[in-house]
Amino acid sequence: MTLHTGRHFLQIPGPTNIPDRVLRAMDMPGLDHRGPEFAELGFAVLEGMQRMFRTTQPVIIYPSSGTGAWEAAIVNTLAPGDKVIMAETGQFAVLWRGIAEKFKLDVDFIPGDWRRGADLAAIEARLAADKAHAIKAVMVVHNETSTGCVTFPLEVRKIMDGAKHPALLMVDTISGLGSLEYEHDAWGIDVSVAGSQKGLMLPPGLGFNAVSEKALEVAKTNPGLRSYWEWQDVIAFNKLGTFPYTPACNLLYGLREAIKMLEEEGLENVFTRHKRHSAATRAAMKVWGLETQCQDPHAHSPALTGVVMPEGHDADHLRKIVLETFDMSLGTGLNKIKGRVFRIGHIGHFNDLMLMGTLAGVEMGLDLAKVPHRAGGVLAAMDVLKGRDVVAMPKAAVA
Ligand SMILES: *Cc1c(COP(=O)(O)O)cnc(C)c1O
Repeated sequence: MTLHTGRHFLQIPGPTNIPDRVLRAMDMPGLDHRGPEFAELGFAVLEGMQRMFRTTQPVIIYPSSGTGAWEAAIVNTLAPGDKVIMAETGQFAVLWRGIAEKFKLDVDFIPGDWRRGADLAAIEARLAADKAHAIKAVMVVHNETSTGCVTFPLEVRKIMDGAKHPALLMVDTISGLGSLEYEHDAWGIDVSVAGSQKGLMLPPGLGFNAVSEKALEVAKTNPGLRSYWEWQDVIAFNKLGTFPYTPACNLLYGLREAIKMLEEEGLENVFTRHKRHSAATRAAMKVWGLETQCQDPHAHSPALTGVVMPEGHDADHLRKIVLETFDMSLGTGLNKIKGRVFRIGHIGHFNDLMLMGTLAGVEMGLDLAKVPHRAGGVLAAMDVLKGRDVVAMPKAAVA
């Protein structure tokens, strides 16, 4: 058993550290969700989430994990037999595909090596070949939390527009929203999927869909079955600031506070902070001589870094030593990279010295686990933080 003195370091890429302000905001008595006071909270979070997604179109808030919001995106717009394109960027893409297949969608899963974003050339070729417009949706993961590689939704949108293809663009930004640039309207996203426990700094339990007018139109005539996830019912109630079923009231209090915190800092500053921490982490890794799981220098995630272990060394053994010795949780490698990769979360409620503590814990852990590495990674990270260097995302992809 790990002895907890001081704060546990929760450096997994979700659930993330919850700010005290958010914890206090949630520490509230029960509330009549059909009473006169509720609507004020309802409107505040609905409007706040529109600002987070950067949309003027509807945002649906579910009492669910991110997985529920994944399912909601599918059942509202697609029916069994519909053809969709998905891209194998990592484990979360694999899981979303699993849901699509359970709903009997005809999934063209574009293969990937889990070391870069979606294969855009392959998506382009599929769309160009689809003269009959049989493909109903292109579905990508924005920030692939299992690998630390970003796919830029605007690049996918440009390809779809270039091919003049009417398919819906659906984006899982569950671990992207609140930690890297996201523009639901400006990037022409039809359905955005998010969750509460990553960049939004909340406990798990809220799922989000931001939906375009086009997606709502498609949903209206979609014969696919759904009930709990039906957008139209939720949107109708939301017009009065309420929900068709009991919302997760206390999480909504927390959400209102989290949005306030992100806006006090300024979203641009939030995104810059995540990029600095990602750059500092990579500077440390370079000195350690460890490889990043993401192999595309433009696609490194600002939210987390996947670290590849040297041959013959087990990532979970290192994670165990770090947890038992320093009370820090690091993310495990998922599915086919289990044991090969561990993940450092630098997402959400986080600052420079928390990053330094995190990297010091990793470096000491490498020593204790006898993983071959060069010492001094933490010093390189300090240089990045002092220099306030920012590794910029490619402009075209975010603007
Ligand atoms: C965390 C995560 C999910 C799954 O969300 P749950 O809340 O665990 O259901 C899906 N996609 C991505 C990219 C994630 O990071």
